[in-house]
Amino acid sequence: MLSLVDIHTYYGNIHALKGVSLEVKEGEIITLIGANGAGKTTTLMSISGIVPPRNGNVHFLGEAITRVNPNKIVSMGISQVPEGRRIFPYLSVLENLDMGAFLRNDQEGVKSDLDYVFSLFPILAERRNQAGGTLSGGEQQMLAISRALMARPRLLLLDEPSLGLAPLIVKQIFEIIKKINSENNTTIFLVEQNANLALKVAHRGYVMENGRITLSDAASSLLVNEEVKKAYLGI
Ligand code: ATP
Repeated sequence: MLSLVDIHTYYGNIHALKGVSLEVKEGEIITLIGANGAGKTTTLMSISGIVPPRNGNVHFLGEAITRVNPNKIVSMGISQVPEGRRIFPYLSVLENLDMGAFLRNDQEGVKSDLDYVFSLFPILAERRNQAGGTLSGGEQQMLAISRALMARPRLLLLDEPSLGLAPLIVKQIFEIIKKINSENNTTIFLVEQNANLALKVAHRGYVMENGRITLSDAASSLLVNEEVKKAYLGI
């Protein structure tokens, strides 16, 4: 579904991604794990077109999307849930969700997707007229995921959904991520610091160090890999 071939991404002179290649198959949950500053967020930004790679190629569903405008990439079926949620604090829950659907014209489809996200997160239906900024951290994460789903993505990019949330809320959100993958047939690319959790929900995983992929395997194998255990699982 998605392939990155030898991509190099820069911030000015900073060479953040140094030849990253990976692939995501339709229907998978894949996870990218790694230490702070390894380049995980930059990888997502390179896919969504927000920080386009300088070299290398990104293909999605057979089309080259390297250096394609981010709006176009959303309309092709890729939505990103950014680190730190970035919801619109002064807009209501409903208005935040409308923003997720702003590239769509199919009103009936938008309405049924709204019903779908409210069925996933009933608390958002209760809070539909409340300002986004007044929601709890967990509710804001639910809103950020829902806003991305309102674009009806085939591939959902999730950046650190567990960040700053209580374990019980994290557990709830990860159950929903699995459900979005299995019931809604949405492919998921999950970036996580919480490697243990991420490898438990993912089918496959990649490990990133210093702008490069250093390991890739089935998630179940990475969970018992000695290097991964020592470096990322604290075992
Ligand atoms: P974290 O888990 O801390 O979010 P990460 O693995 O997602 O880390 P990135 O945010 O992709 O890492 O950062 C990769 C490298 O690029 C780091 O060295 C970082 O300092 C640098 N970088 C990221 N964003 C910018 C920016 N806007 N300007 C300059 N350098 C940046």
